[in-house]
Amino acid sequence: MEENLVDLPFFVKNGFFKKKCKACGKVFWTLKEDQEYCGDQPCTDYSFIRRPVKAPISEITEVRKAFIEFFKENGHSFVKRYPVVARWRDDVYLVGASIYDFQPWVTQGIIPPPANPLVISQPSIRLTDIDNVGKTGRHLTGFEMMAHHAFNIGGMEIYWANETVEYAFRVLTEAYKIPPEEISFKFDWWSGGGNAGEDYEVLVRGLEVATLVFMHYKVENGKVIPMPSKIVDTGYGLERLVWLFKGNPTVYDAVFPDVIKYLKKKAGIKDLPREIIDILASKLGQIDYKEPEKVAIIKEKIALELGLDVSNLNKLLEPHENIYALADHTRTLVWMLGDGIVPSNTGAGYLARLLIRRSIRYLSKLNLEIPLSELISMQIKIWSPDFPEYVELEDTINEMIDYEEQRYKKTLTRGCKLLSNKLKKMKQKGLKELPVEDLILLYDSHGLSPDIVSEISKEYNISVSIPPDFFSRVAARHEKPYSRRKEVEVPSLEELRNLQPTKLLYYEDPETYNFTAKILAIIDNRYIILDQTSFYPIGGGQPFDTGILKKDDRECKVIRVFKVGNTVIHECDQVPFKEGDIVEGIVDRERREALKRSHTATHIILGAARSVLGPQVWQAGAEKGVDKNRLDITYHRPISERELRKIEMLANKIVVENRKVNVKWMNRNEAEAKYGFVIYQGGVVPSAKIRIVEIEDWDVEACGGLHCKNTGEVGLIKIVGSERIQDGVSRFVYKVGLSAIEYIQESEKILKSLSNILETQRENILKKVEELISENYRLRKLLEDYEKRELSALKDKLLKHAKVTAGFKVIISQLELPHDKMLKLAIKIIKTDPEAIVLLFPPRGMRGPYVIMLGEKAVEKGYDARTINILLLKNRVLEGKGGGKVDLVRGYGMLLASAEEILEILQRK
Ligand SMILES: [Zn+2]
Ligand SMILES: [Zn+2]
Repeated sequence: MEENLVDLPFFVKNGFFKKKCKACGKVFWTLKEDQEYCGDQPCTDYSFIRRPVKAPISEITEVRKAFIEFFKENGHSFVKRYPVVARWRDDVYLVGASIYDFQPWVTQGIIPPPANPLVISQPSIRLTDIDNVGKTGRHLTGFEMMAHHAFNIGGMEIYWANETVEYAFRVLTEAYKIPPEEISFKFDWWSGGGNAGEDYEVLVRGLEVATLVFMHYKVENGKVIPMPSKIVDTGYGLERLVWLFKGNPTVYDAVFPDVIKYLKKKAGIKDLPREIIDILASKLGQIDYKEPEKVAIIKEKIALELGLDVSNLNKLLEPHENIYALADHTRTLVWMLGDGIVPSNTGAGYLARLLIRRSIRYLSKLNLEIPLSELISMQIKIWSPDFPEYVELEDTINEMIDYEEQRYKKTLTRGCKLLSNKLKKMKQKGLKELPVEDLILLYDSHGLSPDIVSEISKEYNISVSIPPDFFSRVAARHEKPYSRRKEVEVPSLEELRNLQPTKLLYYEDPETYNFTAKILAIIDNRYIILDQTSFYPIGGGQPFDTGILKKDDRECKVIRVFKVGNTVIHECDQVPFKEGDIVEGIVDRERREALKRSHTATHIILGAARSVLGPQVWQAGAEKGVDKNRLDITYHRPISERELRKIEMLANKIVVENRKVNVKWMNRNEAEAKYGFVIYQGGVVPSAKIRIVEIEDWDVEACGGLHCKNTGEVGLIKIVGSERIQDGVSRFVYKVGLSAIEYIQESEKILKSLSNILETQRENILKKVEELISENYRLRKLLEDYEKRELSALKDKLLKHAKVTAGFKVIISQLELPHDKMLKLAIKIIKTDPEAIVLLFPPRGMRGPYVIMLGEKAVEKGYDARTINILLLKNRVLEGKGGGKVDLVRGYGMLLASAEEILEILQRK
């Protein structure tokens, strides 16, 4: 039996009328008996602009506080906001709603919620409507979603639809004093992210202020299946409530008044006249640039009412739209960069770059020559009462912004050149329109926004049609979930299912190298499963252990170890045992210890990089090996040699201090609350309990690998290389412990040999090499000058002995010169005398390079080097092979005749 979530007792008891909207046909509840429309867009116009709902409070801080206080007083626990970067998930980059905080761990019942029921105000980012931002008056890329959640999971019954609707009604009427008859509840169906359920949209004066979703279905292959858990997922738009209470023309005016005032003043933009605002504002709610045809109709209507044509209306609105978008984008950027996103060309970094580039473009369209970082600083200051955590990050954020701005300007110059060339070619081919795919590519790879492309294209008479949802399309291309590389190729063995979990001895004591265990299963005469093991399986960037398994005088090599579910599989070179045997396991101690040192060193270096470079450093990848290790970190610019040495020194200092490395298992909620999301450096950890590895006062991470007990055991850490492997990501390559010593010994050997060869002390090697290089340069210069003079003299001599025939100077000579010099000489001659026909051959009786070169005038007269070449070969005057173009033939061969004979042949022709 399906639940009836329409006829809730709350509505019935409180005298609500159940209605059907005359426009859209949807069911809604209202206290006004004569209400005909549902109250939502587009059925109802906005009616709060300049006639706001009178609430006792209207400032954003107060509106947020009142919401949280109301729910706290009504049995909800307050949960601090999560970062806008969804580090605990691997299916999305950014948090787009408060429920994202609890997916998938809580919603799937893997871990209990941090509190139940709870109240939160979660900064959220959505770029799907980015083309609407600034233009519709209501769309934002960043917004705060206030919410109360109840998780009816695992037998817990907190509350469900009826109570949720009552809470919504009460918070709006009690905390904000919205008159009850102003509130409508529109019943609808919601689905998203694989879940679905009924929902109510809560509407006041044409504005949707909240959505109350009752998640109790999952969607699989288009089928809706009931779930055992019932989750109350609500969302109240903080910015929208503020807008409703202030009654400004747009949500931007309500939320960012100071930034907008500043930008208008700087750009010399006046407020729109009141009559325009009135007509415009009531209609703005119906505009959505994803439906361009509808937008055109609405715009025409507005223009008609104002007595303007549409293009004039657009011209009038554009600077305002640009200012609004700037105000929105800069706050979202503070959230993104402040929460650890580094601008780059992939993933979340790309989305940050998109906002930065759009913002810079708006500044230039407004003819504002202020750096973007100035607006960022302004936002940080304005929002500091609500988000004090960004104040100390101001320099870090702005360093990234400034760097991106510089880079973008360079990219633009390059991109514009490239585009001009492309357009030129298109024009030559007679093409008239630039395809949309090219438009997206030009933006993606060269940062050229469609309006720039459109402007430049006009010069070539090539048209560009910009899709109205252009930036949403670009963002969508980059919002795709991660596809993480599989670390282990697991054999697909049916038998591997339903195996009992292996007891993991390496976690109990990472220094267990010998153990005994019972063989539970042998598969394919190759894979052994034990009841317990000390062999570490590959995982978390750490390679597997190797070693042997033995019983009496039989033994086999363990060549690979991996985990399937909770079972450890030992891949062996052979299996001389049977199921049920008790075997002894011996782990290769040297390898294990090297891996432990490498692994611990990785944590130490990451801590050092964060300490030297700043909190925007996050681990982007790592590989811990025996000989070579690498750590990839996010950072916006290349890392300098000085910074690198500083990181190395600091890392070794932590080693010398011999700090304790503590390992403990913690509940996920508890660990996140204590350390923050910084623990997910190595990525998502799929369990309710997580293993926390903490280097005292230095680094805390959720990590399943094996580590040293103290940092002192790591030994020397030597960074041997660093490079930027992609935009926004740098790689350190380093050696640890004994292999670091080997590396230094190797370098030492090279230095010693150098010092021997150069016959100088080690500390003078650099000076000596520099001297040698500059001496070498001087000598080369000298030699070049000498050769030049020599060629000049030769040229003069040859010209003097030139044979004149039919007004042309023919120069025939046999010389022992390499090809390039021969060519240089020929060029010198024709430059001095454009009438010259130059034929240079190897000395008599020798094979070698030859050159036939014609001066400009000789070519004009109809001579052709290729014809001459063929003529000489045909007449057997020359033997060899050569080819080229009209004024130059290069070849290799031997001359068989004298200069006179050649001249004769040429004259004959
Ligand atoms: Zn309706
Ligand atoms: Zn680790």
